[in-house]
Amino acid sequence: MRRTLPYLAGLALLAPAATAQDFPTVRGEHPLLVTVDDLPIASRRLHDTDAAREKVTRDLLAVLHKHAVPAIGFVTWRNVGGPADVKLLDLWLEAGHELGNHSFGHLDYPTTDTEAYVADVEKGRAELQRFLTARGRQLRFFRFPYLREGDTPARLARMRAWLRETGQRNVPVTIDTQDWSFETPWVKAAGAADTTALNRLAEDYQHALRLETLLHTADGDALFERPTPQVLLVHANAVGAAQWDALFGWMKTRGFRFVSADEVMADAAIGETPEFVGRYGGSHWGRIRHVRRQAKAREDVAALLAGQAADWNRGDLEAFCRAYADDAAFVGKDGVTRGRAEVLARYRRRYPDTNTMGTLRLEIDEVRDLWGPEITPLGGAVPGAVHGASVVARWSLKREGQPEASGHTLLVLERRGRDWRIVHDASL
Ligand SMILES: [Zn+2]
Repeated sequence: MRRTLPYLAGLALLAPAATAQDFPTVRGEHPLLVTVDDLPIASRRLHDTDAAREKVTRDLLAVLHKHAVPAIGFVTWRNVGGPADVKLLDLWLEAGHELGNHSFGHLDYPTTDTEAYVADVEKGRAELQRFLTARGRQLRFFRFPYLREGDTPARLARMRAWLRETGQRNVPVTIDTQDWSFETPWVKAAGAADTTALNRLAEDYQHALRLETLLHTADGDALFERPTPQVLLVHANAVGAAQWDALFGWMKTRGFRFVSADEVMADAAIGETPEFVGRYGGSHWGRIRHVRRQAKAREDVAALLAGQAADWNRGDLEAFCRAYADDAAFVGKDGVTRGRAEVLARYRRRYPDTNTMGTLRLEIDEVRDLWGPEITPLGGAVPGAVHGASVVARWSLKREGQPEASGHTLLVLERRGRDWRIVHDASL
């Protein structure tokens, strides 16, 4: 995620031939909540004087005011360096915006010890709450740094429980953009008064953010089959101060309506909390789709194995072996058998008739699906397809006049086109 956007060089890659489809048309009206991360200001090292930081802040607030946008600003308290920065937070409140917690030190959850991470988030919460209490305000919202919510089920659950206990609600992002990646080139070009570079960057920023807006919105609408509310993530930076006016103006022409946090957060689609476990963050819609895909993969794998048991119990070994890939490998006490035809031949030798086959039961103990994140040409992380699964199952075989035989099997399956096939089977 920490790399500069290669601007639009790779855009054609967005529609690879294998998944070619029409460019999504966004229809209807979409309520949109604007969220601004890394207050008091993002890329602090590029804005190293109080006056420079105040200028960017006032410019951002002027655009929000012009378009009547009620925003949530998420504060990284480590970046509140002194009274001048506290004043910037006051400017946000005075302009009618809400402030949320974005942790103290902006740590990366997957590479941080769980309790150290919770302690850092708590430190940010306590500081911001103190600031807000002094102004008669309540803290309600939280945003995960890098949108990384947990890379194991236990760590995901730990932060969710802690947010509940402390009365903070995580605000998901539906329109995830790489706006931050424009800031360094923008500030450099502005410093050098390089108008050509600034114009190009402006054009690329608008292309990139508009494209992300359409693609993510279409994604949410497709998932829920209705116009879905959206949450845009942008950062408190100088390129935003220069570009939001054109961006927000364009959004209005495309049916986006700027609304409050309360309206968007009350929607059931935004309120979903998918059990997305991963190393990278990304769009709320991507998480929901991924969790649905995982559930579907598990269902498909379970159906394949149930079908296999039924084939066995009908005495149809050929059908039973169709679940194996052509190049499958079967690992038994007698060694490794390679290829579906050989696996079928082995079964036929060992189970020559329905009496020897008996009745098979397969019970799934555990399924782990295999997938990895992918990076889009625009620099966003999205969960890749579920392309494989490993399954631990218990088998048992009942035969007339014999004690029940049982054992465990470890299966590795791959998705081949629309179907699932067993590629490894280690039956013990
Ligand atoms: Zn951040």
